[in-house]
Amino acid sequence: MSHVFHRHLKHAYPTAVGGEGPYLIDAQGKRYLDACGGAAVSCLGHSDAEVIEAVRDQVGRLAYAHSSFFTTEPMEELADFLVERAPAGLSSVYFVSGGSEAVEAALKLARQYFIERGEPQRKHLIARRQSYHGNTLGALATGGNAWRRQQFEPLLVEVSHVSPCYAYRDQAPGETPEAYGERLATELEAEIQRLGPENVMAFVAEPVVGATLGAVPAVPGYFRRVREICDRHGILLVLDEVMCGMGRTGTLFAAEQEGVTADLVTIAKGLGAGYQPIGATLVSERIRAAIAEGSGFFQHGHTYIGHATACAAALAVQRTIEARGLLERVVSLGEGLQQRLEARFGDHPHVGDIRGRGLFRGLELVAERDAKTPFDPERKLHAAVKRAAMDEGLMCYPMGGTLDGRRGDHILLAPPFILDDAQLDEIVDKLDASLTRVLT
Ligand code: PMP
Repeated sequence: MSHVFHRHLKHAYPTAVGGEGPYLIDAQGKRYLDACGGAAVSCLGHSDAEVIEAVRDQVGRLAYAHSSFFTTEPMEELADFLVERAPAGLSSVYFVSGGSEAVEAALKLARQYFIERGEPQRKHLIARRQSYHGNTLGALATGGNAWRRQQFEPLLVEVSHVSPCYAYRDQAPGETPEAYGERLATELEAEIQRLGPENVMAFVAEPVVGATLGAVPAVPGYFRRVREICDRHGILLVLDEVMCGMGRTGTLFAAEQEGVTADLVTIAKGLGAGYQPIGATLVSERIRAAIAEGSGFFQHGHTYIGHATACAAALAVQRTIEARGLLERVVSLGEGLQQRLEARFGDHPHVGDIRGRGLFRGLELVAERDAKTPFDPERKLHAAVKRAAMDEGLMCYPMGGTLDGRRGDHILLAPPFILDDAQLDEIVDKLDASLTRVLT
């Protein structure tokens, strides 16, 4: 028996021993096409020679220097790389080791910003139901997924949750996308008024909802309205791009497609593409300046901040993506994937919706298509699809998001940016076979 304490104590997992491009290989030599990049992580696949060489080189020169004594070259270069390409106004980067840490840093930066400005009462957060922001206590409190939160309550942060932008289920018949977005903006405004605008610190959202709903983008104009409302009340906008960022939707930052700039942006997963653990919070100039001109010290820190090897890996990943023109490839592969999914599952009785952007695509499984009825949550269908797919040699990311208390079954596809067309076909064929096994 393995002595690894695993999250799922009732299931055994195969032992991964190798990777080759978009494939993972287990100890028995079985190959799995990684159609979800683990959890939207491995955007360059599993054996990129340039990234491996950059990691080797950095470990050989300097693996680690504590951030309270030094910066390092890869840390400085990665910060420059990101700020040069980030939406205007984001002027510095706080490095951490993953997505939850990036969200925690964003929450504490927001809080400290208002303390430095003499508005300590601004500590209330507004986030959205059906969102995931991580598993540390602050990030867990921010996420709206009831079943993840329940057993750990009371959580430490004051958060209220408003509706996500989820057109497939919540846009009313006959309602235009604009009217639907406006309805959500009105709900947000009402929540701010209920709390008192002077008490609200930040609104937190994923530009494209990942881990709870499976690649759900907002309707056009929604985020611009959110930005206006935040500005009107002096509330910070925090966009969590941990899953949807770093090129996954076809632009480096997903919010570029919404035409808004946030005050704080969290990134992780695709940043280091799994070659090293790394995350970051991009910070707007006004927040940096308020802290620099105030106490001059951000009350937060972790031992591995700006880890030299992790920064070198991320820099190599991002330079490789740019040098090979892979963001354009994400757009064309994403269209190819959507077309194939629609051709194969467009009339499927249990596929209610196929959606997403770039190489970030989701399928929503329903018991009854016209009524959009979710499957009985006790069936844990999403988990069964994941297991069937593993048998077929395919990795897809399953999720049972809460739909106002009911569970819904979603399958997220977030494959590496290096696929070829035959591998797109392989994803759809194996997913089809997996659904057939589970649903018949
Ligand atoms: N935010 C979002 C949007 C995420 O999808 C995730 C991870 N699924 C996190 C935060 C947390 O990241 P990590 O698991 O690296 O802590």
